[in-house]
Amino acid sequence: MSSRVKLLDETTEAPIDEPMPLDCSLKWISSSEDKVNALVDIFFTQTAYTKCVEHTASHLDNEVGGVLVGELRVDSQRNRSYIVIQDIIPALFTAASGTHVTFTHDTLVDLNKHLENDHPGKRIVGWYHSHPRLGVFLSGHDVWIQKHLFSDSTQVALVVDPEYDQAGFFCWQDDQVLDPARYVGFYELSDFGDESIVEWNNLSPLVEEFSAQDNEGGEK
Ligand SMILES: [Zn+2]
Repeated sequence: MSSRVKLLDETTEAPIDEPMPLDCSLKWISSSEDKVNALVDIFFTQTAYTKCVEHTASHLDNEVGGVLVGELRVDSQRNRSYIVIQDIIPALFTAASGTHVTFTHDTLVDLNKHLENDHPGKRIVGWYHSHPRLGVFLSGHDVWIQKHLFSDSTQVALVVDPEYDQAGFFCWQDDQVLDPARYVGFYELSDFGDESIVEWNNLSPLVEEFSAQDNEGGEK
């Protein structure tokens, strides 16, 4: 067989040590949130979210996708790694075989070029693709892509159904398992304003309990 395809810049730089930006984030959870022991938490900027929604909604007859670009960080106080998705790079899926997403050699070359030129110092923290009218899961082919091209334990797979307005993240788990049926949500990281812009209807905003208590105005 041919040598391994290079997708990532495969940076060896250490993660950025920085507390999680919880103050300017809203957490969205899935119905299987507690059943997935994800190795990272996911912060998704509103800028990147918007681009992702626009790209995945641009073709409803076939799947489209690309890579998620950003930073890998560690919150040393929490002893927890997290990624910050800051942008996307749409991929050119030139394989004509059918509806599913394929990373061809030309696609990989193009993605690497964009990463180096447009996003210096950033990494590929995962990938995304659409499932028009199919729902949110990883197919056997998707799992193959994750294992071969996004095998780092901190890389995630985002699946978006642009017709049903649903989406979810699939993550490597503690034991290096990838559950193709269970996904998690993410932290919506505000960079537009305070208002949430997330419209995926299979996820729910998590309102911390202390918020309600804060409004009671006093102790106990
Ligand atoms: Zn798929």
